[in-house]
Amino acid sequence: MHPFQLSYWEQKSFFSNIDLLVVGSGIVGLNAAWAFKKRQPSANVLVIEKSFLPYGASTRNAGFACFGSLSELIEDKKTMGEKAMFDLVEKRIRGLDKLRKNLGDESIGYKHYGGYELFRKSDFPLYESCLNEMQYFNESLEKYTQQKSTFEMKDASISHMGFAETEHMLWNNAEGQIDTGMMMNSLLSACRNSGIQILNGISIERFDGAQGRVSVLTDAGFEFSVKKLIITTNAFAKDLLPELEVEPARAQVLITAPIPNLNIKGCFHFDRGYYYFRNIDNRILFGGARNSAFEDEATTYFGITQTIQHKLEHILAETILPNTPFTIENRWSGIMGLGPKKGPIVKAISANVFCAVRMSGMGVAIGSEIGEDVAKLASN
Ligand SMILES: Cc1cc2nc3c(=O)[nH]c(=O)nc-3n(C[C@H](O)[C@H](O)[C@H](O)COP(=O)(O)OP(=O)(O)OC[C@H]3O[C@@H](n4cnc5c(N)ncnc54)[C@H](O)[C@@H]3O)c2cc1C
Repeated sequence: MHPFQLSYWEQKSFFSNIDLLVVGSGIVGLNAAWAFKKRQPSANVLVIEKSFLPYGASTRNAGFACFGSLSELIEDKKTMGEKAMFDLVEKRIRGLDKLRKNLGDESIGYKHYGGYELFRKSDFPLYESCLNEMQYFNESLEKYTQQKSTFEMKDASISHMGFAETEHMLWNNAEGQIDTGMMMNSLLSACRNSGIQILNGISIERFDGAQGRVSVLTDAGFEFSVKKLIITTNAFAKDLLPELEVEPARAQVLITAPIPNLNIKGCFHFDRGYYYFRNIDNRILFGGARNSAFEDEATTYFGITQTIQHKLEHILAETILPNTPFTIENRWSGIMGLGPKKGPIVKAISANVFCAVRMSGMGVAIGSEIGEDVAKLASN
């Protein structure tokens, strides 16, 4: 017999009469729980999180409030087709709007500093294709961004920001950045304040929702049953739903110590979004290089590797801060959920079991909207 037994009190007060159980307390799970509770205020909603904090990507990302650099959108147009690419842009813009409205700019540390894309000598063909397509994208994006020229050339700012090896730069004035920790903290508070119970340190190992109520088994060994279940475990989706096309993709970042008189302000992308950096608290947060080790990074293991960290440090010293002394204060990784198609899976698994997973590396942007979408599905 498993050594852990729930007491009568624990059973009665924490694991009985649950209308909705959400598995995973990332941005999607919390938004799903919150949206469900708004729709059904008397519902008993429980969120279960396997770690001491949400421990996937939502507290470990770069905090770009972005909908794609121009070269990323051009690549998406090629691989997904025009309609699917613009649908995804719209989802990201709507999701960011919801994130800001639901929690408030001050609570999430939102700053509208804009986004930039850098082009080095080796990126010249990429830059040419961006120039060729800029007018088309500006005209098509106007209805989403309400800006005549979402993308503009910004070569003049390269020397002010101090970048080396950078031939050209494009600006996107419709993007911003958030403080990821503030955002997740205020989302957790909003959920708790609305009466949602969040329990950390237990994981759901199995569920059976074939008919009627859904029974779930925890890693502590006890089972309980709920009316409805929403799975929002993103990169870890296959543990519970092995049939889904979701693969883990680790993303590594580093952050410098504060740098006096830092002139760099905004969210920056290069190499089709595979590298990204931003300012935060007078520091530079820099991540990427996954494309230099795709196989190694297809893992749910939260680690950092010398190969990627060296690459990031080298580019930081040579391109981003070439004339500025800096030290690295911290390094970490998070795990994203990707798949053969770029975009989320939001669907019913059975009558009372639903999922919203595979945020494709853009959950800050789409997470609020996707949470609401799956809550709506579960409320019907
Ligand atoms: C380094 C990095 C940078 C990024 N930068 C950006 C960015 O700038 N902009 C942007 O839009 N997106 C960015 N992303 C992507 C974004 O962070 C994710 O898409 C988003 O956080 C996914 O949210 P989620 O709620 O779906 O998943 P997660 O945040 O991963 O949450 C899933 C949760 O489920 C829990 N869990 C898993 N299995 C179980 C189980 N069996 N039982 C209980 N709990 C379980 C996990 O512990 C985890 O907390 C970045 C990601 C990374 C890693």
